[in-house]
Amino acid sequence: MISTELRSVLHDIADRAVAFRESRGDAPHRPLCTYAEAQAAFAADVPERGVSIQSLVAELEKLAEPGLANMVGPRFFGWVIGATEPAGMAADWLTSAWAQNTGNAHATPAASACEEMTGRWLLDLLDLPRQSSVGFVTGATIANFTCLAAARGEVLRRVGWDVEADGLFGAPPVHVVLGEEAHSTVFSGLRYLGLGAKRVVSVPVTEQGLMQPGAFAKAIARLDGPIVAIAQAGHINSGGFDPFQEIAEATHAKGAWLHVDGAFGLWARACTDRAHLGRGLELADSWGVDGHKWLQTPHDSAYAIVRDAEAHRRAMLIAASYLPEGKERHPADYAPELSRRARGFATWAMIKSLGREGIASMVSRHCAQARRMAERLSAEADIEIMNDVVLNQVAVRLGVDMEGTVADALTDRTIARIQRDGVCFVGGANWRGRQIVRVSVISANTTDADIDRSADAIISAWRAEKHAN
Ligand SMILES: *Cc1c(COP(=O)(O)O)cnc(C)c1O
Repeated sequence: MISTELRSVLHDIADRAVAFRESRGDAPHRPLCTYAEAQAAFAADVPERGVSIQSLVAELEKLAEPGLANMVGPRFFGWVIGATEPAGMAADWLTSAWAQNTGNAHATPAASACEEMTGRWLLDLLDLPRQSSVGFVTGATIANFTCLAAARGEVLRRVGWDVEADGLFGAPPVHVVLGEEAHSTVFSGLRYLGLGAKRVVSVPVTEQGLMQPGAFAKAIARLDGPIVAIAQAGHINSGGFDPFQEIAEATHAKGAWLHVDGAFGLWARACTDRAHLGRGLELADSWGVDGHKWLQTPHDSAYAIVRDAEAHRRAMLIAASYLPEGKERHPADYAPELSRRARGFATWAMIKSLGREGIASMVSRHCAQARRMAERLSAEADIEIMNDVVLNQVAVRLGVDMEGTVADALTDRTIARIQRDGVCFVGGANWRGRQIVRVSVISANTTDADIDRSADAIISAWRAEKHAN
């Protein structure tokens, strides 16, 4: 029997997990070792004999910890990454213990019903059409893919082509229209779907990376046949929102499908002082949004939301005859997987833990903190903020009066120095032809004091690199 060992192991890892979390506030925010060092740490032959869980847990901790970034730290601003808050983590531990294969509702009524209810909560919180279906998937990449699969099937069905049965060979061509600065993962979805990453109509964007409404209307008006348009809520650098009202009108005038990539930005809709940003996106046909970014769930959590539940099911249904049929909602009908984790529990837990008010105030606070960061940084004479800070993203340009290549090289060195110093973690990006520092405020643990401390760290790293030059 494993019960005695399991009990002591779970108590032991609870202590280890708490110790890890408690140490994060002051810990450096970058990993302490390089990839090569992590490789060397894990290098080993296949173990011939098993060892106790106790000893392998201790070993895993020793091998892994130096190579872990402090992504749950209060000053982690790299990429766009949530902090896996305790409520979601707790539910996720139980989810592992419960070990439910969440393919269908008969096998696991609780996991399926929890997803159904949590899906309704999401539609309410994000104020999306209440009849929409919600698939629980691993990330916004797969949420976008799932929604675009529904889109592809439906726009082809309208011209009499059954893509699920007959595939794309010989099908009427599907046009895809999107902004020049659509997120890279949207193109992955188009690749997976046989629509091609390059076979798209790119719409010119504004300085904030948002589709120009006039240009979008013109581009889509020229097209005939099945069309899928893809807009964005939350540009990766500017945090900005495409002009949905105009885009939705032009899309629907053509009988086309409109999908919104709202990986983090869709959460603006859960917050009264930011909801105006996403006005009109409720007119779209599908939406992809992450749980593991702004909602702070553990990773592998996102939602594929489709207004036309039938189109969603047609694209994802696993119609194997041995699966029981009926009125129950089968999780596998809305996601591109059969056997999978019961993802609904962690999302349910985060929504219970924060409540509508808690989600709204967290989103609002992060946006205010992004503005605070922008103000602090732009007080420095040669630092400029390149975006309108409408959401949680800050695009920072260093060396405004310097020659471009010099400033770019110094920016990269400054980012490396900031990461090395370890006070906070920021990433870089290339935007509008310049290297930038990108700050994404999205960790539940970030306080105003963390913003101030991080702004100071960024400025002093910049000054140090300038003087070393
Ligand atoms: C993060 C992100 C994605 C991809 O989401 P994953 O959860 O990493 O798969 C897609 N679009 C945007 C705008 C994002 O920020």
